[in-house]
Amino acid sequence: MKFNLKETHALMEITARPDLVFVAGHGSWLQDGDGKSYLDFVQGWAVNCLGHSPQVVQKALAEQAQQLVNPSPAFFNLPSMKLAQMLVEHSVFDRVFFCNTGAEANEGAIKLARKWGRKNRSGAHEIITFVNGFHGRTLATMAASGKAGWDQLFSPKVPGFPKAIYNDLESVEALIGPQTVAVMLEPIQGEAGVIPATPAFLQGLRRLTQEHGILLIMDEVQTGMGRCGTLFYHEQAGIEPDIMSLAKGIGAGVPLAALLAKKEVCCFEHGDQGGTYNGNPLMTAVGVAVLEQLLTPGFLECVRERAIQLSNGLQVLAQHHGLPGERGVGLLRALMLSDASGGSIVKKARELHPEGLLLNSPRENLLRFMPALNVSAAEIDKMLEMLDGLLSHR
Ligand SMILES: *Cc1c(COP(=O)(O)O)cnc(C)c1O
Repeated sequence: MKFNLKETHALMEITARPDLVFVAGHGSWLQDGDGKSYLDFVQGWAVNCLGHSPQVVQKALAEQAQQLVNPSPAFFNLPSMKLAQMLVEHSVFDRVFFCNTGAEANEGAIKLARKWGRKNRSGAHEIITFVNGFHGRTLATMAASGKAGWDQLFSPKVPGFPKAIYNDLESVEALIGPQTVAVMLEPIQGEAGVIPATPAFLQGLRRLTQEHGILLIMDEVQTGMGRCGTLFYHEQAGIEPDIMSLAKGIGAGVPLAALLAKKEVCCFEHGDQGGTYNGNPLMTAVGVAVLEQLLTPGFLECVRERAIQLSNGLQVLAQHHGLPGERGVGLLRALMLSDASGGSIVKKARELHPEGLLLNSPRENLLRFMPALNVSAAEIDKMLEMLDGLLSHR
């Protein structure tokens, strides 16, 4: 160990971290301070969509850093104009507001919906969200989330987020009343264990919200930007939300997020929304480079091919080891375990020698896979082989 654990004591304790420090990363591989390599199927929680330190991001950062870092969000800058234009051209939305994190994008979506409700639905402000949903860690997005145990945290809670049951349209309809302004959901519940909304549920939500004249907000922070094999996941259900949030993949590792909306919904007045770093050219230049990569002909086809390979490989492992199976869409997948061994498999995978494997277990009874979108076929095979060994020695 080339670092002194005491040096970590100045960091505020917020989670249990293993005794290792990562010093470098390239593509699907990370290196720790002892020179050990790890095959990374977490990628910063589905953040590094192009792997670690991709050249296009290095180049965008270096070139933009020499040109202009931050003129202030009160002035226009070229990279943010270009990225907004590209996002509008390749989505069903008309306007984009850039920010720094997924939570901030969702917070913006909540504010926009409440403002719209004030103007158009005589002050309606309730946003129906879902049990086991996850929308971030600000006070409002924690209230919007339906994570077990969070309802008691940091009280008093931000009011106005009644909870429906995921994939249960009747439970949503039962909550709609005069105070309802929107329904907000992840099209795949990630933290809950990679649970996709059925296309019928998403289509039903679109119909229901239209019938009641309320908004549909899609949190595509994890599912957007090619993760599910299309640029945005809602495309696969053939529906158009009114508002969408993006983060994670859009910055390929740097802090960048976006709130997108149809123009009819855009009702912010001057002073309602902003932020010192929002839409700064350094981060939005990265966003342009990332989106250009995802839009390269063949890129998303390749994601879909790798997804089939990963899905098939996980099914074989499930059969071989007598596990319940796998699920997910694109390169956001989960392998269900027959017991609560998720945490211990994650630890054993990390400690493998000579090369470690980084996995994630958002629930004890499953493993989640979020590799780089440009992961190679050989890297998927290698991960499956390492996992096969781990499952044999449970
Ligand atoms: C990660 C995540 C968030 C929060 O994003 P941050 O950038 O961590 O604030 C919100 N919603 C979903 C669906 C996420 O996966």
